[in-house]
Amino acid sequence: MNEEGGETLYLISVAGEIPLKSHRTRPRFFRALEKALKDALGRRGITKFSVWRDGARVFLKAPRNARDAVAKVFGIGRVCEAIELSFSGLDDLARKVAESVREDVRGRRFAVRVKRTGTHNFTSLDVARKVGELLLPHSAGVNLENPDVVVRVEVRGKAAYVIRDCVEGPGGLPPGTEGRVLALFSGGFDSPVAAWFAARRGAEVHLLHFVLGSSRSAEEAFKVASKLAREWLHGYSPRFIVVDFRRVTEAIANNVRRDYRQVVLRALMYEAASLLAQRMGFDALVTGEAIGQASSQTLRNLAAIEAALTTRGFRTLILRPLLGMDKEEIMAWARRIGTYELSEKVAEYCAIAPSLVTTRAKVSGLLNELSKVDESLIKASVREAKVLNPLKDTPLDAVLGSGVEIDYIPEGATVIDMRSRREYEEWHYPGAIHISEAGDLRRFRGKTVVLYCAHGNASYLLAEMLRKEGVKAFSLKGGIKAVKKACGLKP
Ligand code: ATP
Ligand code: MG
Repeated sequence: MNEEGGETLYLISVAGEIPLKSHRTRPRFFRALEKALKDALGRRGITKFSVWRDGARVFLKAPRNARDAVAKVFGIGRVCEAIELSFSGLDDLARKVAESVREDVRGRRFAVRVKRTGTHNFTSLDVARKVGELLLPHSAGVNLENPDVVVRVEVRGKAAYVIRDCVEGPGGLPPGTEGRVLALFSGGFDSPVAAWFAARRGAEVHLLHFVLGSSRSAEEAFKVASKLAREWLHGYSPRFIVVDFRRVTEAIANNVRRDYRQVVLRALMYEAASLLAQRMGFDALVTGEAIGQASSQTLRNLAAIEAALTTRGFRTLILRPLLGMDKEEIMAWARRIGTYELSEKVAEYCAIAPSLVTTRAKVSGLLNELSKVDESLIKASVREAKVLNPLKDTPLDAVLGSGVEIDYIPEGATVIDMRSRREYEEWHYPGAIHISEAGDLRRFRGKTVVLYCAHGNASYLLAEMLRKEGVKAFSLKGGIKAVKKACGLKP
């Protein structure tokens, strides 16, 4: 076998549906697949490779570590390593195959499976029999039902391939073959899985996050988005859009009937998303809702929301890929996709209507409650949407605010206490340095620093100054009270 860094030949089967596409559309699917494949390899630093196609098979010559990248491209059914053999006839072929797999069957029960395309004077069964005969003396016998090893051979015209070490791809359709969608992305367990399923069906998925409470949610959601995009969203440049919805949630909390708040919030998120979809040319929205999973997601509520939106003039298609899944299945997918650990850290936002949520919203009631939230707030939030690149930007870029003000302490930040020495010694944020000991703050150039003081004024001014020096400085909004709150202490 090839050594690390050497070239390996991969034989790739595309997912079942692609070969069934009509002659006219098939090339488009293959082009999209190839584009995504190249992107997947490129992102993992693999630049030296060659790809070609033979009928419904894709061949790839690339370094050994290419397999994991390929197995994450939508539209791919299976990736196998292959050894290419040339042969002069049936006997020659059988001999060469047997030679190359002899060690694999030693002491084990095996089966030979052969596929053949092209014109030959033998059938695939002939090949299987002949190879079987030659291997038999070296093995523990043939077992077609339940073999320990399967010897796979594919004969294609003048060449034959011995196939081994296969991994399953995700299946589905190649990226971008089904248009563009905007996935509502909280970063919790469900929405990344929903986005993944939409992507698996060939949609070019972009992500939309609403900041409902602390802007920390944008940072956490961005981390999930970034992992999802890096590993799975190939062949295009995915976007992570952040919309500051805090003025809307505030208006809901102040004006809307308690039991309708969650439902109103959901409806307004769809409205804002629809506006973005119109503006940016998305064909549909995607959400992580499943029937009956949360009280705001009862069938009645979902139906009432859609009816109300239609009345208010919104007609964007909403897709819900998780509709029929149980929570446990969704979690299992999240593990498989790789978003589980990061999603676990995403805090739930439930401050808007604790406990009491209607499970049977009425359309008229909902329309009435919706009218209590000024529409200009929604429009303004969409106008000010921030568009990020989850492959290039950092989680902190996703955090909203006036620039230097922040409402939480991000992971890994250096925290500096600007209050008096005495106050600092009485209590400070765990790990915070006192400003008198921090030295010349310009040494934090390129680093993230959070400053806090008594009320958040002095820290604001200093953070602004440090920004000019190239420090990613933030001022904690609300000063020491906010710090104590973040630590679960009474201010
Ligand atoms: P998730 O695990 O995706 O957070 P959930 O089970 O917690 O979902 P909800 O919080 O009720 O359920 O959200 C349902 C769906 O609404 C989410 O899957 C997502 O598509 C969308 N959504 C909820 N909150 C946000 C948000 N802050 N930003 C963007 N979309 C959101
Ligand atoms: Mg959630």
